Amino acid sequence: MAKIGFIGLGNMGGGMAANLVKAGHRVKAFDLSDAALARAEEAGCARARSAADAVSDAEAVVTMLPAGKHVRQVYGGEIFGAVPRNAILMDCSTIDVASAKAVIAEAAAGGIAMVDAPVSGGIAAADAGTLTFMVGGEAAAFARARPILERMGKAVIHAGAAGAGQAAKIANNMLLGATMVATCEAFLLAEKLGLDPQTFYDISSKASGQSWSMTSYCPVAGVGPETPADRGYRGGFAAALQLKDLKLAVEAAHGADASVPMGSLAESLYQAMVNAGDGGLDFSAMIRFLDGKRG
Ligand code: NAD
Repeated sequence: MAKIGFIGLGNMGGGMAANLVKAGHRVKAFDLSDAALARAEEAGCARARSAADAVSDAEAVVTMLPAGKHVRQVYGGEIFGAVPRNAILMDCSTIDVASAKAVIAEAAAGGIAMVDAPVSGGIAAADAGTLTFMVGGEAAAFARARPILERMGKAVIHAGAAGAGQAAKIANNMLLGATMVATCEAFLLAEKLGLDPQTFYDISSKASGQSWSMTSYCPVAGVGPETPADRGYRGGFAAALQLKDLKLAVEAAHGADASVPMGSLAESLYQAMVNAGDGGLDFSAMIRFLDGKRG
C-alpha cells in the first residue's frame, strides 16, 4: 500500500481521503482548515503540518483544492520543492485548462509525473467512492495514477494529454448547465400551456427532448426519480458550483476560438441566479428562478 500525501480536505477531499485510508493506504493529510484536518484525523489520516510536510516522503499525492490559483500556489510554493521525484501527482480539483497544463509542465520539467484528474459526481459520490475521474496526462502517468484513483471512484477514464481531463469536465458541465436551463424552461412552458408536469415528463422522457437533466435529475418535485427538487432544492450540486464550471468553459472557449452561445447564456443565467442569493440551492432550482421565484 502506498504512502499518500493528500491536500484539500473539504466537502469532496474529506471523503476521498477517507476512502484511501479504507483501502489500506497511509494518508498524510493537510488543509488550511483545522476542522477539516480534525475530520481527516478521525477518518484515519495522519495530520501534516503543511502541504510540504504532507508530501515529503509520499509515493503519491492527491490534491482537491478550490480553483486554479490554489493549485498553482500549492504545487509551485510547496509540493514541487518537497516531494520525492519518483512520486505520482494527481490534481483532482476542477480548474482552468491553462493552469492544469502549466502545473503539469512544471512537474515534467522537474522530472515528476503528474496528471489532471477532475471528477464527476458530488459529495455523496466522494463519500461513497463512486466518483468518475477524467484524466489528462501521459499514458505512463495515467497507468500509475489509475490504481489509486480507482479506490475513490467507479470509473477512471484516460481523456488524453495534460489538461484533457479538465477539458472533458468543463465541456460536459457546460452541456449539463445548458440542458438543465432548457429542461427548466420546457417544464415551465408546458405548464403555462396547460399540461400537467407529470404528463409532460411521461411524453418528453420518451421523446426527442429527453436528457439526463430530465430523466435523472428532473427539476420538478414529485416527477421522475427522487432529486433535490423533492428536498426543496437542498443538497445536490450547488448553482454556485455550476456557475464556476460554466465560467471555466466560457473562458476556455475564448482561448480556443470556440463559439459557445448556449454555454454563455447558461453562464449568464446562473450568474443572475447566484446574484439573487440562490447560489447555495441545487442548480435545478433554475426552474424557480426562471419562474420569478427566489429562495
Ligand atoms: P471545499 O471548499 O469544500 O474544499 C476545498 C478545501 O481546500 C478547503 O477545505 C480549503 O480549506 C482547502 N484549501 C484551500 N487552499 C488551501 C491551501 N493552500 N492548502 C491547503 N488546503 C487548502 O471545496 P469542494 O467542494 O471540496 O471542491 C473541491 C474541488 O472539487 C473544487 O475544484 C470543485 O470545483 C470540485 N468539485 C466539487 C464538487 C462538489 O459537489 N462539491 C463536485 C465535483 C468537483
